[in-house]
Amino acid sequence: MPRRRRLRKVVAPPSFKGYKPYGNKKSSKNPVELFYEEYEAIKLADYDSLSQLEASEVMGVSRPTFARIYASARQKIATALTETREIVTVYGHAILDKDWYQCNKCHSKFSLPPQVDQLHCPLCQSKNFQSINPEK
Ligand SMILES: [Zn+2]
Repeated sequence: MPRRRRLRKVVAPPSFKGYKPYGNKKSSKNPVELFYEEYEAIKLADYDSLSQLEASEVMGVSRPTFARIYASARQKIATALTETREIVTVYGHAILDKDWYQCNKCHSKFSLPPQVDQLHCPLCQSKNFQSINPEK
C-alpha cells in the first residue's frame, strides 16, 4: 500500500495555470509540473519572507516537510528556467483553505463566503464558473 501523504494547506491557489518562456523557439514542450503546495512554499518563504518554521505552521506541516516541499519547488523552477520549459501548476497534495472557483470566462480564481446566493465571478460577473477544490 502506498504511504498516505498528509495534505498540505494552501491559503490560495496560484492565480495562473502556468508560465511559458518566450524568445526561444526551441523551448521544450515538456512542461514542469509545479504543485500548488510548492508554489505556496515559494510564496511564503521568498515573497512573504517567512522563516521556514513560520511557513511550515501556515501550511500545517512539519519543518522538515516544508523544507522538502520548498527544495522541490526551487529545483523545478530552476529546471524550467535552465531547460527553457513551461511551468504548469497542478494540484499535488494541497488542500485549500476555502472553497475556490475558477471562472470559465475570464479564468480568474476566487473564493466566496458560504452564504452568498448570487454566485458570480467577482471580476467579470460571469455565472459560468466551476469549483476547483478536489473531491472530498
Ligand atoms: Zn470571470
